[in-house]
Amino acid sequence: MNTFLPRLLPLALATALALANPVAHADTAAPGAARAENPFLSQQDAAARAARVSNVAYVLDFALTGKETFSATTTLNFDLNDASTPLTVDLDKATVKSLSVNGRKVDPQYNGWFITLPAASLVKGRNTVVVAYERPHSTNGEGLHRMVDPVDGRVYTYSHFEPAAAHQMFAVFDQPDLKATYQLNVVAPADWEVISSTREANIAPCTEGRRWTFPTTKKLSPYNFSMHAGPYKVWEDNSGKYPMRLFARQSVASQIRPAEWFKYTKAGLAFFDGYFGIPYQYGKYDQVLVPDFLYGAMENAGAITFAEHGFMYKAEMTAEQRQRLASVIMHEMAHQWFGDLVTMQWWNGLWLNESFASFMGTLATAESTEFKDAWRAFYSQGKQAAYEQDSKITTHPIEVPVPSTQNAFDNIDAITYSKGASTLVQLRHLLGEDTFRKGVHNYLVKYQYKNAKLDDFIGSLGQAAHRDLSGWTREWLYQPGVDTIAAEYSCKAGRINAFSLKQSAPHEFPTLREQRVQVAALRLEQGRYRVDRKVAVTYKGANTAVPGMVGAPCPDMVYPNYEDWGYVKVQLDPRSFDGARAHLADVQEPLLRAMLWQSLWDGVRDAKLPLNDFISTVLANASQEKDYTLLGDVLGKVAASKRYLDTIDPKGGYNRQATRQLADMAWAGVLANKGDDNFQRRWFNAYIDLASERPDLDRLASLLEGGEKVDGLDINQDLRWAIVTRLNRFDYPGAGALLDAEQARDKSDSGQSAALAASVSRPDPGLKTEWLERIQDPQPKLPFSRLRTAMGNLYPAEQGLLAERSADQRLARLPALDKSAGPVYMRAYGPSLIPHGCTPADVTRLRAAAADMKDLSAGTRRALLDALQESQRCVAVKQTMTAR
Ligand SMILES: [Zn+2]
Repeated sequence: MNTFLPRLLPLALATALALANPVAHADTAAPGAARAENPFLSQQDAAARAARVSNVAYVLDFALTGKETFSATTTLNFDLNDASTPLTVDLDKATVKSLSVNGRKVDPQYNGWFITLPAASLVKGRNTVVVAYERPHSTNGEGLHRMVDPVDGRVYTYSHFEPAAAHQMFAVFDQPDLKATYQLNVVAPADWEVISSTREANIAPCTEGRRWTFPTTKKLSPYNFSMHAGPYKVWEDNSGKYPMRLFARQSVASQIRPAEWFKYTKAGLAFFDGYFGIPYQYGKYDQVLVPDFLYGAMENAGAITFAEHGFMYKAEMTAEQRQRLASVIMHEMAHQWFGDLVTMQWWNGLWLNESFASFMGTLATAESTEFKDAWRAFYSQGKQAAYEQDSKITTHPIEVPVPSTQNAFDNIDAITYSKGASTLVQLRHLLGEDTFRKGVHNYLVKYQYKNAKLDDFIGSLGQAAHRDLSGWTREWLYQPGVDTIAAEYSCKAGRINAFSLKQSAPHEFPTLREQRVQVAALRLEQGRYRVDRKVAVTYKGANTAVPGMVGAPCPDMVYPNYEDWGYVKVQLDPRSFDGARAHLADVQEPLLRAMLWQSLWDGVRDAKLPLNDFISTVLANASQEKDYTLLGDVLGKVAASKRYLDTIDPKGGYNRQATRQLADMAWAGVLANKGDDNFQRRWFNAYIDLASERPDLDRLASLLEGGEKVDGLDINQDLRWAIVTRLNRFDYPGAGALLDAEQARDKSDSGQSAALAASVSRPDPGLKTEWLERIQDPQPKLPFSRLRTAMGNLYPAEQGLLAERSADQRLARLPALDKSAGPVYMRAYGPSLIPHGCTPADVTRLRAAAADMKDLSAGTRRALLDALQESQRCVAVKQTMTAR
């Protein structure tokens, strides 16, 4: 799965999926006891079932009409080695019409979560269970989701099962280690396509439309099987080794760029076939863009789904959009081997799937597409998020227990994806590229079509390397936190005479680790930093001497994680730090420049460098940035700086002055890059994000209405919405009418979503109250995708006073909501709507809530503690500024 969220969504949402959970609530039962009556499946119950059941084969019959409810029959065939106790089959919120076990009708014993088959109905050996049922389609993005296109009234459906939502669509042993085959038959309206893990064997007309018959799949975990049905538009490309298709809603077809999809898909399939040494297993490669998707994309075997809002383009694609498309395609493709072919036994192994797919996805992007700097993009986007999260008090080890399916997604976050991927990068440096690849190949061969555990993976790598990796595993995978290294050296007569690396760990997480890095010494010559010497060193413990550095000319800058081999924070020595601030634009290598920018930003976040000093460095250097990826990184830090300024004091004199200078810089960037669409759009996006005073808002309004024009800058529909949203957020005169006009002009699903974001962000107390009620309504009237948009846009950073009006209410409602709303809802609600701020009073309130609310679910509790720590951090950032 991929969890990236596109730029149009607010930042709070990007972290909405980034929650974690070291200690979980679980219903644990004694062995042999009946399964706990709740919506979730515990690891213990799953293990007990897997010990009895094997050789599972499903026959799935669906009747789809496009209406709100579907009807279906599931036939389960399986071997049972012990028929002495009842057996449960998962099926969520269905109306069971009939149940037969081994040919006999049985009265369904069904609690709305699972069916219990009485022991007397079961036999040792082969069993057949037939369940006929009806169920409403889902509207929350799980199970068999249904969406009505507001443009043309057409109905689209698709499935999404991860972590354990297959039983929202059919009767199933919904656990990854009961792999099975699936034979699918679907009756659907005549103009619909049906897409699944295999390509259909037959389509025949029938009175209800068409009957689709699919060949039996290879063995798959339930969460990797899928079915998507609707009047989708189809594109095909058979120029590669495997047939490729792409699907999207008819009304958005003009915004899809099939040629780009097929180009990267074909390149990726060739790359992975070669790298893994096992050919792609599922015969055809279908990719489906779907609406209302909860995540970025999902690796269903042979029928991958993508969140359409991340991959629709109303203008020419920018380089950034192409790179994102390539990297998400590669990520999901890596899963076809690592995840689908070899699957974790239980949800605690999800991180290895995601870490590995993030690692391989980046490698494939770097080596098989035009984006040779994919690892640098990974450094700026993935790795920084991991460092940030790993520096929080709520961080967790990469590998954590998952007691039940309730907790399966508690740890779907930057630690799982990017720290995990970074440790694999490090492991590849430690073992060597060829050994690493050999270990991966052996693992895939040995466990294909089976399930595996972490020890199996580490064991395969260790065997290939002839090395015991248990110590490495303990330090990196079972201990949380990020360490810091610093270079300590002295010079005598112009040369280094002593050099060592100091490793330190945070107080709460004291593990020091072994790691292989490169240390570089640079000298400033004719206005440019050049690497004078670099030395690879494996360090461990608190102090490691680096004799290879001794004798080198005394450097102007030392960087102890050169070329980013290691997962570690770097504390620059004072001379290097000052050099970085003064001469950032003189550092030639973009990756080193990115790491130096990061060191400065870490300084701000850790309250060691005043935010105003950082902003001065931005104003002196950012305009000279000629690297596209790094410019995006720096402008991201500008946006984060602006959020700090607005949270600290939205109307403060320094805020207004700094915003004025930053907005002028961004506008100058727009004008200076007239011939370069990529750079121009990047600067223009930054300008929109900074525009908050009249002259800038006037300019945006004029650009929207066509009064002002800039060479090369096409104000496409996405930019129109960004401008309309900005004008509404700052209550620009006439903004409401502009919103109405835009809504009339763009009636698409994405247009409605953008209109909602614009509307709820208006600084209007009545509107905030009304929307907060809708969001907190126990019987929500809107699809979850809309509620999520509302949550993320309700209280922008500069509307702290409005947010304060409902802050106590939101905090007080937290325990009740947490109990009733479920983890998907809370993952969005917590980071967006738990109140935080930048005053000691905010800190006190959150500290009291944290002391009070000990019974929250683990994910929500973590969101609360994160809000507390972020408020404390903001107070410290503020103090650093006023201390000047
Ligand atoms: Zn993934």
